[in-house]
Amino acid sequence: MVKSAPRGAKTEAIMFNSKMYELGSHRSVIRDLFEFGKKRAAEVGADKVYDFSLGNPNVPAPDGVKAAAEKLLALPDNTVLHGYTSAQGDADVRRAVADSINARFGAGVSPDFIYMTCGAAASLTITLNALSEPGDEFILLAPFFPEYSVFVKAAGATPVVVPFDAATFAPDLDALEKALNAHTKGIIVNSPNNPSGTVYSRATLERIAALLSAASAKFGTHIVLIADEPYRELVYDDIEVPYLMNVYPDTVVCYSWSKSLSLPGERIGYIAISPRLYEKESVYAAVCGAGRALGYVCAPGMFQRVAAACVNELPDIEAYRRNRDLIYSALTEMGYDCVHPDGAFYLFVRSLEPDANAFSDRAKNYGLLIVPGDTFGAPGYVRISYCVSHDMIERSLPAFRALIDSYKK
Ligand code: PLP
Repeated sequence: MVKSAPRGAKTEAIMFNSKMYELGSHRSVIRDLFEFGKKRAAEVGADKVYDFSLGNPNVPAPDGVKAAAEKLLALPDNTVLHGYTSAQGDADVRRAVADSINARFGAGVSPDFIYMTCGAAASLTITLNALSEPGDEFILLAPFFPEYSVFVKAAGATPVVVPFDAATFAPDLDALEKALNAHTKGIIVNSPNNPSGTVYSRATLERIAALLSAASAKFGTHIVLIADEPYRELVYDDIEVPYLMNVYPDTVVCYSWSKSLSLPGERIGYIAISPRLYEKESVYAAVCGAGRALGYVCAPGMFQRVAAACVNELPDIEAYRRNRDLIYSALTEMGYDCVHPDGAFYLFVRSLEPDANAFSDRAKNYGLLIVPGDTFGAPGYVRISYCVSHDMIERSLPAFRALIDSYKK
């Protein structure tokens, strides 16, 4: 029992939550690099710093976004536009999202099972909080977006990392099978993948689905597949990105337009619940509850409507393809060991020394800001974000050459 201090006695005041303090007082490696870049630019000139750290799209939002926003802003009465929507999102917007999903993937999603969010990060945190009970585990397939660990722990659950097969960058399915147990509540699948650019094949996804179904039957559970899909539309060379609801029944899709429509600062996305999800009504109610508990009253109203107007727009993938082709072929030719990216806008490269942090530090001396893979669950690799100007990639190539040469001396 906690005894209260006697009146007048001095107490040690605890002003903050120590876990939140921990999270807030350490910058991520990516943010550290970004800050370093600004400092270095002041010292040596901005043209000698090649910042490949952030995944901030450099391709402008499609014209349809501007046209939709202008049309909305021209409405005579903007009280509706700027007002609250329903907590789960405007009904017309949810219908437009469901119609688009159904027309493209035949998933049979109902607008009543769409929940509009402030981007994929909110889609994930709401879903994780909606599903988690104390003792639950969520599987993260390495390499993975580092915030997953933060989101899972903040939801009171435990992240369990499953390694990848270094030859294919697909998940190690034997390790996945071993990791599944009675406490497994869900798994996050991110394809096209940040940081590797890999797109999981249909065969891999079907194998994952079979393992989840077998484990669910064995443990008497319904393991939920959370499909984190901000890069769904960023794929090259007609590569298939299977719609996971059609592959595995207990699926929740977490989406955002941050990357596909270059709108990361507008914070707009959605959660879509499969019509085949076990107890889908209760899960949707829990999603609404988690959104409420986390303080997401409604996603940004104007951008809900912009997204609905642009729901079938596609990004200018050609700009990213040119960047991918240039950086992948130039670095491979120099002797770097690169994972061929089929999607997203990241190149994952094997570090030239065992410690990728030391490699990233050395790269800084050449003005190259590249992110060590440790926090992605892939030590020994670095991530290069090529959502930057084509010109910067061209100018950076001599620096990449000098970096690899420095290891030959
Ligand atoms: N998931 C992945 C794999 C990401 O790479 C990102 C952002 O980079 C997010 C989620 C978060 O996206 P959003 O900005 O829409 O919250």
